[in-house]
Amino acid sequence: MDLRNRLWPGIPETKWSDPEWQLENRLKGQKGLAKFLEPFGETAGPFLDCLEQYKWAATPYYISLIKRHYSEDPVGRQVIPSPEELSVSSPHSREDPLQEKRYSPLPGLIHRYRDRALVLVSNFCASYCRHCNRKRTWKKPECVPRGQKAWEDIKAYIRTHPDIREVLVSGGDPLLLPAAKLEYILDLLKSIPNVKVLRIGSRLPVVLPMAVTDKLCRILRSRRPLWLNTHFNHPHEITPEAKDACDRLQLAGIPVSNQSVLLRGVNDEFAIMKKLCCRLQEIMVRPYYLFHCDFAKGTDHFRTEIKHGIDIIDKMWGDTGGMCIPRYVVDLPDGMGKARVMPPHLKGLREGTALFQSFQGKFVNIKTG
Ligand SMILES: *Cc1c(COP(=O)(O)O)cnc(C)c1O
Ligand code: SF4
Repeated sequence: MDLRNRLWPGIPETKWSDPEWQLENRLKGQKGLAKFLEPFGETAGPFLDCLEQYKWAATPYYISLIKRHYSEDPVGRQVIPSPEELSVSSPHSREDPLQEKRYSPLPGLIHRYRDRALVLVSNFCASYCRHCNRKRTWKKPECVPRGQKAWEDIKAYIRTHPDIREVLVSGGDPLLLPAAKLEYILDLLKSIPNVKVLRIGSRLPVVLPMAVTDKLCRILRSRRPLWLNTHFNHPHEITPEAKDACDRLQLAGIPVSNQSVLLRGVNDEFAIMKKLCCRLQEIMVRPYYLFHCDFAKGTDHFRTEIKHGIDIIDKMWGDTGGMCIPRYVVDLPDGMGKARVMPPHLKGLREGTALFQSFQGKFVNIKTG
């Protein structure tokens, strides 16, 4: 289904590729959803409770990537609300699955790991992903630092914790902040002597690639060393526009890596995951993590078995290059942190010997003594 022409007929390319036009014309709330559902001959009725609980908005660009009925489409499933968001089936599901609140010494600052801290700079996103593990914050502006005093407090905290050498700037989407505010935040963090490197988490290259402008790239470029992690989940998201956005970042000296989430009905098949990761390597975006879907309330319908994720990664090993294989991780319930779930090739280890199984299944014993 050609949703661009059904929903936005006659919009010229100049407008379509203008980030301001995209943001102003986002579909959102009940009215926007009703407009989206029209071509499918459906109404927003079944979604009203869900919209009450969780925000909804999506850019025309991202919506135009939906090709089939939204409930069976890899992009549609990520961005169109589902009544399933209101049912809780996992005993581990929590509003705040990583217990970010417990590790938050100040609003918007999360310090779980010794040498890195995370700042949540906004709760505004171009499109709201239904599988987001921070969907609890969408309607809560108090989760982010407000005003200069709050930022000075964050600076003081990081300065008095000299072990912190890396700061992750995430949200919400930091790259949607007004340019002056983004510069203020990056410079404030960079001015802390123990902060050696910055990392931005942004889904802009995926949901609004035209907003990755040369001006934005210049802002980032002058704040290197700065890494950018984005969030592609399906090969359909790797469009010419997305590739160009990643190119602009790379050419500005910003390495782009990817964090995917393993999502039922989106990318929980070997062939899809392999294609996604290979396509990412082709646009020079390094697959960094594949997250098991966090135990966030409202995302249970996306979660697969962990065994299933292991099988996918296991099959990729030997089938494609290491540059295309992300590390599969589970963020453990109750804020216990990230855990690796890579299937081991090491099958036995004793003093002086190690037993491996090769990618073809052959057992190999090595004398290590
Ligand atoms: C995931 C996470 C990080 C970053 O961890 P890496 O393994 O370095 O990617 C940092 N802080 C918090 C609170 C996190 O959840
Ligand atoms: S872009 Fe990130 S923070 Fe925003 S809704 Fe999607 S997953 Fe959540």
